[in-house]
Order: sequence, then structure tokens, then C-alpha cells
Amino acid sequence: MSHPVYATIDGPVIMIGFGSIGQGTLPLIERHFQFDADKLTIIEPAEVNGAAAKATGYAHMAETLTPDTYRDVLGGLFEDGKGFVVNLSVDTSSLDLMKFCREHGVLYIDTVVEPWAGFYFATEDNAARTNYALRQKVRDEKAANPGGTTAVSCCGANPGMVSWFVKAALLRLADDFGAEADPQTRGEWAALMQTLGVKGVHIAERDTQVRHEPRQPGHFVNTWSVEGFIAEGFQPAELGWGSFEPWFPPNGHRQKTGCKSAIWLEQPGANTRIRTWCPTPGPQFGFLVTHNEAVSIADYYTVGEGDDPAFRPTVHYAYHPCDDAVLSLHEMFGSGQVQEVHHILDVDEIVDGIDELGVLLYGHAKNAMWFGSRLSNDETKTLAPMQNATGLQVTSAVLAGMVWALENPEAGIVETDEMDHRRCLEVQMPYLGPVEAHYTDWTPLTDRQSQFPEELVENEPWAFANVLERMGA
Ligand code: NAD
Repeated sequence: MSHPVYATIDGPVIMIGFGSIGQGTLPLIERHFQFDADKLTIIEPAEVNGAAAKATGYAHMAETLTPDTYRDVLGGLFEDGKGFVVNLSVDTSSLDLMKFCREHGVLYIDTVVEPWAGFYFATEDNAARTNYALRQKVRDEKAANPGGTTAVSCCGANPGMVSWFVKAALLRLADDFGAEADPQTRGEWAALMQTLGVKGVHIAERDTQVRHEPRQPGHFVNTWSVEGFIAEGFQPAELGWGSFEPWFPPNGHRQKTGCKSAIWLEQPGANTRIRTWCPTPGPQFGFLVTHNEAVSIADYYTVGEGDDPAFRPTVHYAYHPCDDAVLSLHEMFGSGQVQEVHHILDVDEIVDGIDELGVLLYGHAKNAMWFGSRLSNDETKTLAPMQNATGLQVTSAVLAGMVWALENPEAGIVETDEMDHRRCLEVQMPYLGPVEAHYTDWTPLTDRQSQFPEELVENEPWAFANVLERMGA
């Protein structure tokens, strides 16, 4: 595999956070950019990850960024109008950091709209704890200060790469329908989705990565940040709310301000089961974990204005994490206690499995099409060091986002829906393993057990009422 050098980063490269994603991203930065090694700094406060940062030989600062310190710490490293901040930490405010970077003309990228520490559990106000609320603040900042230095928001696998997959999948679908399609603007993309008859999109993921050793009680095991997953798992279940939906969840809430593309449910996302489909398992339960892309994709593909637009897709994450993580969630919600031991499965202890992450476009004349990456851990080892399959899907999206930002340095604040999906996938594709489209005739009404009564919407198989597991509710 050849490794093209895509660009030169002039000035400081500042990595914030050196956990599973930071450690996987650094080798890709080294491979694909020219930069001054004396100006790369890793800010990482934790002991183990700090030691890993130190071992790289780059400058390491054992700082915990806080609202009181981030300006001094980053400001001390900045060279105005130059450099790149790559934020791969938890517990730092994406919005504050991107604003500060843009004030100084420093490029910025992150993989999630992260708040400062404490936010997720500090309030009883569930509407305020949604990703909708976090995202809307970034959109408000974009509206208030359009243009300027590029800050790429939410550019991981999901949120991130999956927005590029939605576009690739729409073009594939149009081609399979024999329809002409060359959308350029947001409005044209939204119109394409509408005319193709797509009613909604699941971000449908099945992670089958597994190690030999069984999970121990009291351990939370995952293939990426345990802390990040627990935080988002306790946020309210949330989804982009489609214009075709014939039913509204009794514990659902609409948003009152902003683009209003999403609704949230009065229950934690990682404890909310939904029906979805991926190529390896076929039909499966996923969890309705809130994610930025559910809100942003629903927003981006809206046709029409106001509270009742002519078209908007339903969009949500449907996540089946690795089996150890499913057991960890089961134990956590059952006991009401967050486990004390957190463990991220290492590429070398994983003995089998893939991360199958794609977009399931449903409701059209061919029923449903899954389009995504089916990257195995074994293949990952041959592609890049320091990460498992889940990590590489994220870090290669960070790489693609950095390349795009360096090629478009004055694009302002952007989400991945607003970037050139062709260029980004061109950069990312060598790291994604098989990227495939699969049609299925499965719907959420397929093979429902009939022994127990369920209130199903028979005339609209894809209604969220049929997707959401409500038995016993
Ligand atoms: P991790 O838990 O392995 O590492 C996070 C690191 O951030 C830790 O090393 C921690 O010490 C550091 N940190 C915590 N507070 C900090 C602070 N105040 N200042 C500086 N550093 C701080 O997490 P990860 O798996 O590497 O994930 C990193 C981020 O990427 C998370 O926000 C996660 O949600 C996000 N992520 C996004 C995607 C996606 O597809 N979009 C996928 C995976 C992870």
C-alpha cells in the first residue's frame, strides 16, 4: 500500500486527547502529512495514555483542559494563522475550542460535539442533555459567524463518514433506478433523496469483534472509549424525525427552537432497543443511541421550511456494539452502577470479528439498501498500526477531514454533510476494507412473533412504531 502525502501542515499540530482514537490517528498524520515534528504537541492528562504520548517522542503536556485553562494552554502553543488542532478528547467543549481556534486562524477538527466535563450528568433537564441541543449551539455559532477559518465538526466514523456514505448510497440508488443524478447543493441532495422515495436512514452497525477471555462482572468492555459510550448511552434516545411517520411516541418530545429536525424520548438511548438490518447478521436489535448524525442528516435532507416540512427523513443510529459491550450495558442498567473497570479491546487481543458500519436507506421502491464498510480486525492490522477496526473507521475519517480542511482552509464551521464526499471518501477508502451495497427485502414487520399482541402500523412497515421495541411497554 502506498501512502500519499496529501498536504503540508504549516505551524503547530496540537493533538488533544491520546486515547484509543488519538493513538490511532497519530500514525496516519505521520504517514499522510508533512509537518515540523518539533511542533507536534500531545495534550493528554491521564497516566497510561500520557505515558503512551510520551513514548512517541513528541512534546507531551499532561494538562486537563478546563474552561479556565484552555486559552492559556492552547494560546501558549498557537502561531496565529497557522497549524491544526486535532481534538480527540472527551470532556472538552468542542464549541469553545473551535471558537478559540478560529479567532487565531488555526484549523480545527473533532469527532463529536463534546461538552466540558460534568455536562452529561449535571442536569435533570433532558432536553438540554440532547445532542440536538449541543449541535444547535454549533449551528448557531456558524450562523452568527459564517465563513472564516475552517473548523470541521463531528468528523469520525459516525458522526462523520456515514454522511459521506449517505451521498454515495443515494447516487448508487439513483443509478440502480436508472435515474439521472448530479446534485451539487444541499437542496438538490435533499430533493434527490425525496424523489428516490427514501423515507429514512438507519446508521446500522454490527460490531462482532471478540477476544478469547470472557468479560468479568464489574468490567465495562468496548471497542472504543468506554467513558464516551457511557456518557452518550445515558443521554436521551434521540432521532431525526421523518415527515412520513404516522405515529408519535407517547414519551417523545419535539424541540422548540432551532432547525427542529429531531425528537427525543424520555429514556436512555443505550437502553432502548430498535430493529434494524446489517449484512452479516441480517435482522438484529440495535440500540437507539443518540448521535449528531441523526440530527444533522435529517436537517440536511429536509425539503421545505417550518415545523411541518414537505419532506424530511427519519434518521437514527441503530448500534449493536461488540458482544462484551452489550453485556456491559445489560449489567450497568440492571445494577444502576457504572462499572469501575473500563477496558478498550486492543487490536492484538481481538481474535475475530469485524465492524460493519453503514447506512440503511429504506422505504423506496427497492425496499432497503445497506451501504457501508465491513472492516475486519485482521485486515486492520495490515492497514495501520495502533488500532482495531472500529478505531480505523474513525481515524481514517479524521484523516480525510484534515485533508479536506487543508484544501479548504476558509470554509468556516462545517459538518461532514457539507463537505465534498467524493474527495473525503477517496482519501478514506483505502482504510475501510470492503465497502459494499446490499439490498434486503427485510422490513421491521418481517417475522414478528404473533403470540403476544403488539400495536403495529401494518400499512407502513417502516414506521418508527414498528422499529422501536415496545413489547411490554
Ligand atoms: P478515550 O476515552 O480512549 O480517550 C479520551 C482521552 O481524552 C483520554 O485519554 C483522556 O485522558 C483525555 N481527556 C479527558 N479529559 C480531558 C481534558 N479535559 N483535556 C484533555 N484531554 C482529556 O476516547 P477515544 O476512544 O479515544 O475517543 C475520543 C473521542 O472520540 C471521544 O469524544 C469519542 O466520543 C469520540 N469518538 C467519535 C467517534 C465517531 O465515529 N465520531 C468514534 C469513536 C470515538
